[in-house]
Amino acid sequence: MQVNIAPEFQNDEDIGTVKSIINKCVHCGFCTATCPTYQVLGDELDGPRGRIYLMKEMVEGAPVTAKTQSHLDRCLTCRNCESTCPSGVRYGRLVDIGRRYVDERVSRPLFQRIQHWLIRETLSRRALFGGLFGLARFVRPVMPTALKKKIQVVQPAGVWPVNASRQPNARQMLLHLGCVQPALMPNVDAATARVFDKLGIHLVTTSEAGCCGAIRQHLNDHSGAHAQIKANIDAWWPYVAQGVDTIVINASGCGVMIKDYAELLANDPVYAEKAKRIASMAKDLSEILPAYAPALEALVTAKHADGVPERVTYHPPCTLQHGQKIRGAVEGLLSQLGVTVSLCSESHLCCGSAGTYSMLQPAMSQTLLDRKLGNLLKTSPDEIVSGNVGCINHLQSGTETPVRHWVELIDRMI
Ligand code: SF4
Ligand code: SF4
Repeated sequence: MQVNIAPEFQNDEDIGTVKSIINKCVHCGFCTATCPTYQVLGDELDGPRGRIYLMKEMVEGAPVTAKTQSHLDRCLTCRNCESTCPSGVRYGRLVDIGRRYVDERVSRPLFQRIQHWLIRETLSRRALFGGLFGLARFVRPVMPTALKKKIQVVQPAGVWPVNASRQPNARQMLLHLGCVQPALMPNVDAATARVFDKLGIHLVTTSEAGCCGAIRQHLNDHSGAHAQIKANIDAWWPYVAQGVDTIVINASGCGVMIKDYAELLANDPVYAEKAKRIASMAKDLSEILPAYAPALEALVTAKHADGVPERVTYHPPCTLQHGQKIRGAVEGLLSQLGVTVSLCSESHLCCGSAGTYSMLQPAMSQTLLDRKLGNLLKTSPDEIVSGNVGCINHLQSGTETPVRHWVELIDRMI
C-alpha cells in the first residue's frame, strides 16, 4: 500500500520503518483468518489488515480517536498474522510504533493510566514483584476463588548445581533471569541450570540484569524500556568481554524482546553496536538443547521414569512460534528423549496470556484461554508443557492438569 506521510509525522525517528512496513502490505487479508481477535469478534478493525489500515490513516493525518486506540489495545501482539502473511509484513514492529503514536495523541482515562503505571512499576522490578508476590501468597487462602487461581502454588526450586563451575575448562553461558519468573516459577531457572550442568555447561547469572524491557515497551514506555535494555547490556558486557558468547533464555517472551535489542537501539550512538552483539547472543533453550540431544539421551535414566508422564501436550508460545519463528524444535527434542508428545488443534492460536494482556483485556483473554484449554484437554494430557512463564501461569489458572516448563520435564528425566 502506498502511504503519504502527514507533516506532523515527517520527523519521527520511526516513520521510515512504519512507511516501509505499510508499503509491503498488499491488503490481501490472508492474515485475518489466523487472527484470534478477528476470529472472536468478526470485526475487520479487530484483525491485522484493519489495524494496519487504521495506522496508515493515522500517519496520513486522519483524526486519531479512542476507538483507534481500543482496536490497537485489543491486539494481542501474538504475531500470528506475521506467520500467515505472504508479503513479509512486520506487523509486530508496526503496531509497537503505532501504539506509541496513538498514545501521544489520545489521552487515556485516569483508571487506565493508573493501571498501566502499576503494572509497569511492579511487574518489571524483580525484587519488588518478588516481595508483593510473597505477600499475595500469604493472603491467598482468604482470597476469592477467581483471584486465587492467578496466584498459584510455587514449585520449590531445588538445588542450584555447582559441578560444571568446579571444572576449570567448563563452558560458560549467561542465563537471563528476567523479572517475574524467579518469584512465580523459581524451579524453571534451577531446572535449566541443572540440565546445563549435566552437559558440563556452567550458567552464570548476574543480579544487575533485570527485566528484558518488554513490559515497558508494550505499555508504551519506550524510554523506560530503553533504560532497562541498556542496564542489561551493561550488566552482561563484562562477561561478553571475557568470551561468553551465549545468553540462555528460558522464557520466549523475553527472548523475542532481547533479539530485538539491535533494532530498538539501532540509532543509539553508544549502545547500537553492543545491542547488536547482545541480540545475536540471545538463544532460546530450544535453539541450544537439540544440539545436545545425544548427550541428554544418554543421561535419561530408567530410575526417573516414574516422574515422566505418559502423555504430554506441548503448547508453543506465540513469542516462540510467531515472534522467533522457531517451530518443531521442542517436540522434536522431547520425542527423541522418548516422551510421547503431541500438539493440540489450533496450536498456532494464542492462549490469551500475551504479556500484560490478561490484566488489561480480561474478557478476551479468558475467551481465548477457554478455547485453548478446550483444545489442549481434548488430547487427554497427563501434563501440559510450554516455554514461557506467562503462558504457563495463564494456562494453569484454568485447569487442574499440571502445566510446567518443558525443561522441568527434562530435568526430571535426567
Ligand atoms: S496477509 Fe500480509 S499483505 Fe495480506 S493483508 Fe495481511 S499483512 Fe497485508
Ligand atoms: S498480532 Fe495477533 S491479535 Fe494482533 S493482529 Fe496479528 S494475529 Fe491479530
